[in-house]
Amino acid sequence: MKKIAIIGFGGAGYQAAKEARRVDPTATIDVYSDTNIGPYNPMLTTYYVKGAIPYEAMFPFGSLEQIVRDLNLNFFANKPVTGLDPAAKLLKFGDGTTAQYDKILISTGACAVMPPLKGIDLPGVFKMRTAQDAVALKDALDKGEIKSALVIGASWVGIKVVEDMVAYGVPCTLVDGAKWMFYVAAFEETAKRAQKDLERKGVTVACEQMLDHIEQEDNGQLTAVMQNGRRFTADSIAVCIGVRMNVGFLKDSGLEINRGILVDETMRTNYDGIYAAGDCCEAMDTQCKIHRNIGVWLNANKQGKVAGANMAGEHMEFDANVLVNLAHYLDYDFISIGDISTCGPDDDVYEYEDETYYIRAVRSANGIKCINVIGSADSNGLIKNAFVKAVENADADLDIQTRCFLQKKGFPDGFIDFLGGKSVD
Ligand SMILES: Cc1cc2nc3c(=O)[nH]c(=O)nc-3n(C[C@H](O)[C@H](O)[C@H](O)COP(=O)(O)OP(=O)(O)OC[C@H]3O[C@@H](n4cnc5c(N)ncnc54)[C@H](O)[C@@H]3O)c2cc1C
Repeated sequence: MKKIAIIGFGGAGYQAAKEARRVDPTATIDVYSDTNIGPYNPMLTTYYVKGAIPYEAMFPFGSLEQIVRDLNLNFFANKPVTGLDPAAKLLKFGDGTTAQYDKILISTGACAVMPPLKGIDLPGVFKMRTAQDAVALKDALDKGEIKSALVIGASWVGIKVVEDMVAYGVPCTLVDGAKWMFYVAAFEETAKRAQKDLERKGVTVACEQMLDHIEQEDNGQLTAVMQNGRRFTADSIAVCIGVRMNVGFLKDSGLEINRGILVDETMRTNYDGIYAAGDCCEAMDTQCKIHRNIGVWLNANKQGKVAGANMAGEHMEFDANVLVNLAHYLDYDFISIGDISTCGPDDDVYEYEDETYYIRAVRSANGIKCINVIGSADSNGLIKNAFVKAVENADADLDIQTRCFLQKKGFPDGFIDFLGGKSVD
């Protein structure tokens, strides 16, 4: 009987277990988690904080007990894996014990980066990644302990925490070290519009502010002191400056690791029988043909499924991995698709604005590079699929169905042509 181990039980780990069980009903599947709770969706944490969903709704696959029963898993709670010998397929645990498997999946996700700065551990400093993070912030908001807030990091997580603060009527300032909001995905023109729109909703925004340290005032408030000396004082500070892949325990294991674990299209690592999926791995980017972590829910789930099938004996591949950043907040919707860092001054630019959309897209003779769209909430999947097709075959025009869908959604012909490969005049 095949023995499969899954390390980490988020979206990727769950889908792997489900698929492995489908393919091989008799396999032993052991799941190791560093928590005692079931798989949840971290992107729902901020929805729980603002009261849009109950706590249980963060767990889209049901209760842990039900999952363990339905999939016939052995679940080891609060048992973090602390080391791995990939050649021997041996897991190591903190208590000195080990366990051997035929196939192993690493699906340990990522954690919020908290830089080792003075004051970062003060009460009132929050982060946002786990269900526990959400409970802590909601608790403080519900108790009325937060009457003003500073959010550090104008990115996908930070903007959702801003939304929470606005929902509670808490005056909020958003700061970021970069030149503009959503810096790794937004063109300056897009970001300036987003900033203005956010300020119109009462949020103060300050860019080019790098955190130096945090101080506690005599009245208990916190002051974030910036490297340029500027001071921002509030009851609470949320630090949302990025994530780090949970791969530290694999140091010296021999696995190929960049920021995340490198995998091929079957989610296999450089060792036979060892797989990785989700936020802890770097799969091949279809656009740039490099390994890249694209830490989104859909990828984690698809990659987990692919790894689960392959571990259990079926062949499955993960495809179409392109950079996507999506921010939906305060009735506002911004999506960026593609690698903005590939755009240069000689590229073609398409820009469009009406009462529904702001669109900025860049392409070169070799194909489409990056698209920013504000206002396309119900068409994001469609645009992403069209982008992927355009990347996969730069010479092929968009198919008629995609063209019709985009036209129906009110996208201008100029944008559709640009996406499909026709240069602007
Ligand atoms: C606030 C927020 C907003 C987001 N918004 C979006 C969005 O709008 N759209 C989108 O697509 N994605 C979004 N995401 C990202 C998305 O949630 C993640 O990409 C996805 O959930 C990753 O799933 P995963 O299974 O790889 O990792 P995780 O869900 O992090 O699961 C990994 C699990 O492994 C455990 N673990 C770690 N180390 C060990 C160890 N050594 N041993 C055992 N267990 C271990 C962890 O505790 C965790 O339970 C957001 C995330 C956050 C936090």
